[in-house]
Formats: sequence, C-alpha cells, structure tokens
Amino acid sequence: MVSMTTAVLEPKDMDWIGKGVLGIEWNDGHKGVYPVRYLRQHCPCAACTDELTGELRIKPDDVPLLIMLQDVEPVGRYALRFKWSDGHDTGIYSFTFLRRICQCDICQPVKLEQPKIKRLL
Ligand SMILES: [Zn+2]
Ligand SMILES: [Zn+2]
Repeated sequence: MVSMTTAVLEPKDMDWIGKGVLGIEWNDGHKGVYPVRYLRQHCPCAACTDELTGELRIKPDDVPLLIMLQDVEPVGRYALRFKWSDGHDTGIYSFTFLRRICQCDICQPVKLEQPKIKRLL
C-alpha cells in the first residue's frame, strides 16, 4: 500500500545558532539559517511590505542594529509570528516564505565571488 505523504513543509526544530541568528530545521531535513535582523527587515506585514507589489516599505536602516527576537508563536500550521524587541509583532511569516528567504549556504550559494585558488600539492 502506498502511503499518502502530505508534503507539508514544517519546522521540526528551532534553535539559536548564535547571537542574532535563528536556525530552523525543517521536516525535510533542511537546516535553515536566518539572521534575525534580516528577518525583521523582510517582515511580510502590511506596514512593512506593500501587499500589492511585494515591495518593502521598511528600509533596512529602519531596523535597529541590535534587534532581537523576543518570542516566536506558531500561527495555525502554516506560519510563525515573531515578536521583536522594537515592539513590532504583526508579521506573520508563512513557512513557504521562510523557506524562500533562507540564508544558508545552499539556498544562497554565491554572495561574493571568491577566486578559487587551486592548491598544488
Ligand atoms: Zn511588519
Ligand atoms: Zn537554506
């Protein structure tokens, strides 16, 4: 019998990789990396992101350098709501959105072109 796998993307585990970086392990085994300031700068709420164009209303510099994630609350089975140290808490980050903005080396492979020097043994 073929099992009906519902491929619903969900966070399996969440942890603090380090100061200012949130780690989310997904149920497909992917380990997502999310600098918290980056998350705050891409808040999907209507005040921070234009709902029609998807353009960010918030400027990167509007977010305090030392922004902290104070609380994470699940929203149904599709999103997370983050509470920030600047008092903002209206952003609902769907799992698909979070997965899309993942900042790990696999999802964002080339940030800076670094010349590869071939090592001659
Ligand atoms: Zn927002
Ligand atoms: Zn990733």
